[in-house]
Amino acid sequence: MSWKKIGAIVAAGALALSLSACGGGAGSTDLANLKIGIKFDQPGLGLKTGDTYSGLDVDVATYIAGKLGTTADKIQWIQAPSAQRETLIETGQVDLVVATYSINDERKKKVDFAGPYFIAGQDLLVRSDDTSITGPESLDGKKLCSVTGSTSAQNVQKKVPGVNLQEFGTYSECVTALVAGTIDALTTDDTILAGYAAQAQYAGKLKVVGAPFSTENYGVGLKKGNTDLCNKVTDAIKSMISDGSWQKAVDANLGAANYKAPAGNPPTPAACS
Ligand code: GLU
Repeated sequence: MSWKKIGAIVAAGALALSLSACGGGAGSTDLANLKIGIKFDQPGLGLKTGDTYSGLDVDVATYIAGKLGTTADKIQWIQAPSAQRETLIETGQVDLVVATYSINDERKKKVDFAGPYFIAGQDLLVRSDDTSITGPESLDGKKLCSVTGSTSAQNVQKKVPGVNLQEFGTYSECVTALVAGTIDALTTDDTILAGYAAQAQYAGKLKVVGAPFSTENYGVGLKKGNTDLCNKVTDAIKSMISDGSWQKAVDANLGAANYKAPAGNPPTPAACS
């Protein structure tokens, strides 16, 4: 082998090494083929119907992916139940989680967040003919359903220590139990509750109490320390808000449930640390 050839091989190797070290500028994330965790059973937010995905989280995720270099057809949607979100991110099974995911300090120990991109509040869903539950103060002795690993379950346990709380894996399981009468109320974000109450199959059967008792800042979860990716996602959220796409997505997805975005929306995304 000539010295010239050897030199060329060494140069090619060095180039490959430096390219892989850069990794497209967002750590090990493949920005053209993003894996995104969403909910599959929350109408208006993240819903899988056959092979199609819809909801505000899906639209926010699709917009962000577009800015990062992933076209809609290249997004791999992965179900991210509340209790599994941190693990899915930590193990690299997803690049981003856009799944009604509230930013809080406990979660920040394990993952980073870009956002918020939406502000919701915790509320209660009851059967339409129930006049006994008007807010968290009337939950004593009632059977309440929420989801494992959610801030909703934690908040309500702190606020109403005497409540009989049952934790399921998903909110849609709680809705089924509520309609069947085996539980008295479901608690989580008002966005999620409005989506269920508006579903045709529950017409006239369910109502949202309408007395929110927390502030839920929805963020985009990503791997801890990936500040480069976090900054890119933050920029994408900002541009979604400023170019009008955010309002369109909110109207299209939450409008059908007659949900009015509470004060503070659209939020100003925080800086990535
Ligand atoms: N936003 C709350 C949370 O992140 C409740 C909704 C959910 O479980 O996805 O825990």
